[in-house]
Amino acid sequence: MRPQILFPLFAEVSSLKGVGPKILPLVQKLAGPLVRDLLFLSPSGLIVRRPMTAANAVEGQVGIFEVVIDRLIVPGKPGVPIKVRASDDTGFVHMIWFGGSAQHIDRLLPRGQKRLVTGKVERYLAEVQIVHPDIYTPEQAGEIAAIEPVYPATQGLSSRVVRKLVQTALTHAPELPEWQDPAWMARNRWPGWRAALETLHAPTCEPELEPDAPARQRLAYDELLAHQLALARRRRARQITPGPRITPGEASAHLLAALPFDLTGAQVQAVAEIRRDLASGEQMGRLLQGDVGSGKTAVAALSLGDTAASGFQAALMAPTEILARQHWQRLAPMLEAAGVPTILLTGRDTPGERRARLAALASGEARVAIGTHALFQDAVRFDRLALAVIDEQHRFGVNERQRLQAKGDPRTGGVHLLTMSATPIPRTLELTQYGELEVSRLTEKPPGRTPVTTAVLPLARIGEVAKRLKAAIDSGAQAYWICPLVAESEAIDLAAAEARAADLRRILKVEVGLAHGQMPGPEREAVMADFADGRIPLLVATTVVEVGVDVPNATIMVIEHADRFGLAQLHQLRGRVGRGAKASACILLYGGGDDGLGETARLRLETLRRTEDGFEIAEEDFRLRGGGDPLGLKQSGFPAYRFADPIRHRSLLLAAADDARLVLGRDPDLTSPRGEAVQVLEALFDWRNDRPGID
Ligand code: ADP
Ligand code: MG
Repeated sequence: MRPQILFPLFAEVSSLKGVGPKILPLVQKLAGPLVRDLLFLSPSGLIVRRPMTAANAVEGQVGIFEVVIDRLIVPGKPGVPIKVRASDDTGFVHMIWFGGSAQHIDRLLPRGQKRLVTGKVERYLAEVQIVHPDIYTPEQAGEIAAIEPVYPATQGLSSRVVRKLVQTALTHAPELPEWQDPAWMARNRWPGWRAALETLHAPTCEPELEPDAPARQRLAYDELLAHQLALARRRRARQITPGPRITPGEASAHLLAALPFDLTGAQVQAVAEIRRDLASGEQMGRLLQGDVGSGKTAVAALSLGDTAASGFQAALMAPTEILARQHWQRLAPMLEAAGVPTILLTGRDTPGERRARLAALASGEARVAIGTHALFQDAVRFDRLALAVIDEQHRFGVNERQRLQAKGDPRTGGVHLLTMSATPIPRTLELTQYGELEVSRLTEKPPGRTPVTTAVLPLARIGEVAKRLKAAIDSGAQAYWICPLVAESEAIDLAAAEARAADLRRILKVEVGLAHGQMPGPEREAVMADFADGRIPLLVATTVVEVGVDVPNATIMVIEHADRFGLAQLHQLRGRVGRGAKASACILLYGGGDDGLGETARLRLETLRRTEDGFEIAEEDFRLRGGGDPLGLKQSGFPAYRFADPIRHRSLLLAAADDARLVLGRDPDLTSPRGEAVQVLEALFDWRNDRPGID
């Protein structure tokens, strides 16, 4: 229920004076449907108007001129602007209109009259000129704002109109109870909410537009806190859902013994964290973050084993057929040997296989199911599903994950969730994207890996690269060759990849596979499988190289137009090699013609050359990209904040996450005075209801 005090803010913008039917859709599109949304539209700039004369006018600045109108010059030809000449004691001021009615302008500017004209000063043949000036009579002088915020505008809705509407909206903004901790507010010297909003809309100088201006900080913090509260609530809701109690048993010990290696320290710790959750009696929600090749599968396998050992069923879901099959080939023998019946479920099972496997799951005879999207289809029933493991979680939608989780038995409690991601993300992003999940990180690679040697070369040296590649393949190596999306059209990209494959076939005289996004899934997976099994030595691919597929014999990765990839993506691609004991190489080719490499691009590629630590690369990428939309996250479910910038407000974000936990920890039902104010904050931002992007 929305607190009554917020009603004026949640009124439709159409209820505001000045929002007629003509501009209503424009306002809705620009700001949003509610009065609140107009208030949450931040000015993006500032106009400072200075009194000037024709003699001392400063080009590029906005001047206010007190002039007498001399004459109207109406063009004889179309396309020539209408001009009005005016003057003060020091010289002429020309006003220019492109289009518009000469009659109307004539009426506004009667000859011999005094007017105040304002606009950006230009000089044309040494004379002062203002294009599309604003005009005031001497009596209206008081209306000219010396300083005026600039708002985002659209065709038909000028910044000026937006400003007026925002000012009207401000008169509807109530004082709200203070939800911030008083000591924290005092320390930051932040204004109250309403005062902050007023300051936001009445900047007096450029620094007040910066993200670290106190009013902007305050509003950003409000937003971050509201978001973190929403995430913390979800976390709490999960924690109070009972989950089946799972403890390691005999099968777990067998499985551990059957692994062909000792766990790394990071794996041991992740396993311990997961076991603590699984045994707690509360539903687990955990993200296992680990760079490509860090050994997430083994951690998942032990959780599958624990679940089976406790008499429950577990599912491991992977985004592609080939990946599911690879997991099954590796894990099923070990699980079976440990006494855990395991089945594979994909979209390509024959009807007979499928029937038998579904029956084994429904009866509880099969304890572990490994599969693709096939796992969450309606026909699939479990006897007592207790754990869902999602590999490469970003490849699944929230709904898909939930559909699998929904296959649990309410009598045994909520299905534990373990999601796995090979994209190391900075802690900041972790908080905004996965704030409701606990996180385990595999920060250490299994031993015995030889570091990948990374070289950055101009495309012009492709001939050399091909020669070296030929030698390596002749001595038994396998290689990937990645062609990125370069052109606007996929067809052109595809043609480029096909041409490259043909070139390489001709020059290297070896078999070259081609995998791209336009291929039918089964066909693509067949090529991938041929490569994985060593039947093809060289695979040319657009960016579809299946994340997660493990081809230890592949030791060379060539990436064309590396400068067009994100750093994280390059790192992921490089992670395809260096998985075996043999020395591996990654060659980053940049540029098409002789165009050099920009400074940022150079720094980015240099980062890759310097380190193989995915977390370090992620932080660096984050830093190099700076503000705006880092990592293109807005499209990938990153929450669309109105005030907060996760990079510029990084420390506020960290503080908000702590604050949210603290508030809900102390006062879970939010009944204290601060708690009640916090409820108003939550309702004000409404994270739970109107942001489909977050999860
Ligand atoms: P990812 O985290 O990318 O899913 P995988 O689980 O596929 O990584 O593991 C990558 C490779 O490392 C596999 O071949 C796996 O057998 C091996 N591996 C995993 N853990 C260890 C370990 N502790 N010691 C040695 N090799 C390991
Ligand atoms: Mg994996």
